[in-house]
Amino acid sequence: MKLPCVFFDRDGTLNEDVGYLDRLERLVLFPDCIDAVRLLKRAGYLITVVTNQSGVAQGLYDEHTVREIHRHMAARFEAGRANIDGFYYCPHLVDAPVAAYRRACECRKPLPGLVRQAERDLDIDVARSFVVGDRWRDIEMGRAVGARTLLVRTGYGRTEEARPPAGIAPDIVVDNVAQAVVWILQRDRG
Ligand SMILES: [Mg+2]
Ligand SMILES: [Zn+2]
Repeated sequence: MKLPCVFFDRDGTLNEDVGYLDRLERLVLFPDCIDAVRLLKRAGYLITVVTNQSGVAQGLYDEHTVREIHRHMAARFEAGRANIDGFYYCPHLVDAPVAAYRRACECRKPLPGLVRQAERDLDIDVARSFVVGDRWRDIEMGRAVGARTLLVRTGYGRTEEARPPAGIAPDIVVDNVAQAVVWILQRDRG
């Protein structure tokens, strides 16, 4: 049976947005994010991280670094009994300085390619899923795939909230991932 998933943006949502996260030492997870994921897992959700990493296309860091950061995050969450089921990232940019990543891809948010990859890998019920992120492009992606969407006020969230684009609205705006999980679990029961 297909399972619903909570798709989390990474930078500004699960961890502090430090500009371009170009080395593991700069990774700072937000308090409560591991607890939040554990509660969702317990309620039967798959958990994925979907993140634009155009720093790769810009030559600021390489895919090895992205994967190292994801392995580290996976271990931290696993140690908190909050396993993340998959990490998906887009390393591309249409006008990338690094030729190997110069591409009009399908996976750079707001396009839904990362959700589609996860959906295939994990047999996700996207219509019963949620997207949590701090940027309008996260919300736009979530709406494009028919998921429910939550804008968090961490990262760029407050700035984004103050400048809503025409035609895109989240289902709800919450302060952080802990509040996001409370809302999701209430919806789930209701
Ligand atoms: Mg973000
Ligand atoms: Zn891409």
